[in-house]
Amino acid sequence: MSATGGTPLASLRRITNTRREPMVGERCEMCAASIGDEHQHVVNLESRVLMCTCRGCYLLFTAEHAELRYRAVPDRYLSFPNFAFGATEWDELQIPVGLAFLFHNSVQERIIAFYPGPAGATESELPLDAWQRNVAANPQLGHLRPDVEALLLRGPDREHPGFSAHVVPIDTCYELVGRLRSLWRGFDGGQEAHAAIDEFFANVERRSRPAPPATETSTEAAS
Ligand SMILES: [Zn+2]
Ligand SMILES: [Zn+2]
Repeated sequence: MSATGGTPLASLRRITNTRREPMVGERCEMCAASIGDEHQHVVNLESRVLMCTCRGCYLLFTAEHAELRYRAVPDRYLSFPNFAFGATEWDELQIPVGLAFLFHNSVQERIIAFYPGPAGATESELPLDAWQRNVAANPQLGHLRPDVEALLLRGPDREHPGFSAHVVPIDTCYELVGRLRSLWRGFDGGQEAHAAIDEFFANVERRSRPAPPATETSTEAAS
């Protein structure tokens, strides 16, 4: 496991910086059109950098199976009410903190996990066999779109017994990591970081709808 240094955090910094300066006129990074503070993103599949885009440029990259260098981040939140997951599976994934984002890097064919922390995100590669066992036990995890969505896992703590899983847009994950980095105090993050995490999960819960059956995965269009 090592701290991430390269492009993902560069994109993260860009996002958190723009969020702190909402009055500065933002521009689409593809066509330079003026865009609002609330806008959508596309991922560069090779570098994993997120780019801020206008609606028109965003729509060029929503095709899910196109052989393109960029892909639009869908605005989609899914919950897994019958998620088959427990302490053994959690231990197998070797996730050291109570919260992790997993995503599938299609270029490198790897499952990568991010953990928020005081230095930003710590990244590690997951044991692929453990991941595949989890997908076998939860076929709905097949809904997770490579590169643009993350599986958000939350482990049990004092106030939240049990595990939860959601599919969330990957830009939301980077935003949370950036926010936690600035709030983190002490060993476990402190009160403000935990309040931010609770607020984040409340928003995810509010926006999520139950994941459809696994068989519908391939036909669903990007939003
Ligand atoms: Zn544009
Ligand atoms: Zn942006």
